[in-house]
Amino acid sequence: MAEMKSMMVENRVFNPSPEFVAKARVNSLEQYKEMYKRSVENPNEFWAQMAEENLTWFKKWETVEEYSFTDDIYIRYFAGGKLNVSYNCLDRHLDGPRKNKAAIIWQGEPLEDSKTYTYQQLHNEVCKFANVLKSQGVKRGDRVGIYLPMIPELVIAMLACTRIGAIHCIVFGGFSAEAIRDRMLDAKAEILITNNFGYRSGKFLGSKDVADAAMAQCPDIKKCIVVKRVDKECNMVEGRDVYWDDLMATASNKCEPEAMDSEDPLFILYTSGSTGKPKGAMHTTAGYHLYAMMTVKYFFDIRDEDVYFCTADIGWVTGHSYCVYGPLGLGATSLIFEGVPNYPAPDRFWQIVEKYGVNILYTAPTAIRAMMKDGDQWPKGRDLSSLRLLASVGEPINPEAWMWYYTVIGKEKCPIVDTWWQTETGGHLIAPMPGAHPMKPGSAVNPFFGVVPVLLTAEGKEAGVNEGGHLCMKKPWPGIMRGVYGDPNRFKETYFVQQPGHYFSGDGARKDEDGYYWLLGRVDDVINVSGHRMGTAEVESALVAHATVAEAAVVGFPHDIKGEGIYAYVTLKEGVEGTDELKKELVAHVRKEIGPIASPDKIQFTPGMPKTRSGKIMRRILRKIAAGAVDELGDTSTLADSTVVDNLVANRQ
Ligand code: ATP
Ligand code: MG
Repeated sequence: MAEMKSMMVENRVFNPSPEFVAKARVNSLEQYKEMYKRSVENPNEFWAQMAEENLTWFKKWETVEEYSFTDDIYIRYFAGGKLNVSYNCLDRHLDGPRKNKAAIIWQGEPLEDSKTYTYQQLHNEVCKFANVLKSQGVKRGDRVGIYLPMIPELVIAMLACTRIGAIHCIVFGGFSAEAIRDRMLDAKAEILITNNFGYRSGKFLGSKDVADAAMAQCPDIKKCIVVKRVDKECNMVEGRDVYWDDLMATASNKCEPEAMDSEDPLFILYTSGSTGKPKGAMHTTAGYHLYAMMTVKYFFDIRDEDVYFCTADIGWVTGHSYCVYGPLGLGATSLIFEGVPNYPAPDRFWQIVEKYGVNILYTAPTAIRAMMKDGDQWPKGRDLSSLRLLASVGEPINPEAWMWYYTVIGKEKCPIVDTWWQTETGGHLIAPMPGAHPMKPGSAVNPFFGVVPVLLTAEGKEAGVNEGGHLCMKKPWPGIMRGVYGDPNRFKETYFVQQPGHYFSGDGARKDEDGYYWLLGRVDDVINVSGHRMGTAEVESALVAHATVAEAAVVGFPHDIKGEGIYAYVTLKEGVEGTDELKKELVAHVRKEIGPIASPDKIQFTPGMPKTRSGKIMRRILRKIAAGAVDELGDTSTLADSTVVDNLVANRQ
């Protein structure tokens, strides 16, 4: 494992706007620091207070935090406590003013399809579906597979599982039959919930056919519940498949919530597969739920009257924590969207912001860069004045994209909350406290309460100021995964062996003189040019800062003299031609921004990047192509569009 060096200098600093600070929960650096200090010096007291104030318990816990990051790895929060997640997301909001408040606002892909569920209505549907699950033989501890698009039934199914103590295992609605099969077999699921047909980017999808192909190879799946997203018959297998509506028609809306132990599993979810075969992260009940809620409360500073729009698909952890469990636990209004940012037009997000008066928007750099590429006329044509806070997740946000988000979308009055975290971490670990931290474009800033990051060199020593290191955590936080489902060894080997006694994230970062964290990219993607080790993020950000560049990905390739050379894949903005002149200009630009050591040796223009279904660039594939090893691309099952790869191979430099 390599260390990495940081070379970019980004000096811009932006203070949160006075309007924002005036109302913020945490409104000064002193307050953040005081709370942070308390959370790490006395975690038992801090988390006990948070758990007391924010969750409703059937039985109080006996201990707060217990763990070992060495030898036998274990992590426990609130052991001995009993609670129910659906109760915390629904029931307890019903005896006050939130009863008739929108819990979920659903916007379908077709413009005219939308629906709102109040807390009372959602509670009703969840109780009914919980009874349906029971009627189909699902018991506490059973795994329930869910393969659904972004429709309200997805949220209902999740919460119904939590109500009866079943463990959901959601597979992103755009995945293939093979991806569903692998996850269902791994989770040992005996039931799958899916839909007949769906919409995506204006296309009509046969979701049930995909699910059928998967189930043909999953002999343990005995039942399949089918949501009619569209009023149209699909293939139904006698004895196995039943329509959602038929079961719901006779189900009772009374269902007592199961009293779950704090450490009972809540769900299994697979990572994006950017760096290899996806890992099945297992999250448990109390710590995860509390952590998801606390990060929404503080990092997004959410209010009861807010309309909060997280654009992530619930098939990813961002959707689990930040469309469902975080906001609903707090009694907030969560807007969920079935479609994509550019259909029917490139202003779809902005049309939604305008239609519902969205106050908080949470999206990803991949979407931000794509919308920048489409041009400012799209957001400028919509009323975005309701926006109060903007957030980002998934990849490092390049300073250029950050500036666009801040100025064109946020009109310089919304804080940008860049949230660094992982499927494994359950919730945000590093982000700015929006009413407290001055922001620096491209920096994820500081840890959340109770989180203790450290940057370590390959030898396990603490890295100095601005020196790159492996981003690790010294101790757990309530939302950390408790294991890889059914595989304790993989858990230990993946996260706790490289840097003994620490949770190792796999990412590289540096900490600047103000203690701000800057993510440098994956440690596995480090490029070593003549003994200088570079993360990918900064070289990419330098390229994206050029006026013609929409997106960039850099990787190393074998080089006779330098050991490794830099190979840059570049997607240009609309209407820009990829000439040899422009290549020279881009090389000169990177030399100027960073220095000669970072100049790309090769540049390949490409209309698209190989991305995971969750929108992250898969550099491991780009590295293979750059090295000419096109037959060794590895696990490509989570790739969004395989034709991109053929095109890249054909145009290799
Ligand atoms: P796999 O673990 O299967 O390779 P993955 O790491 O892409 O896939 P996720 O858990 O979805 O799966 O993504 C977490 C990773 O995304 C982080 O480790 C980090 O590399 C990247 N990431 C997420 N948010 C940010 C952010 N705000 N800044 C920089 N990187 C981020
Ligand atoms: Mg990962």
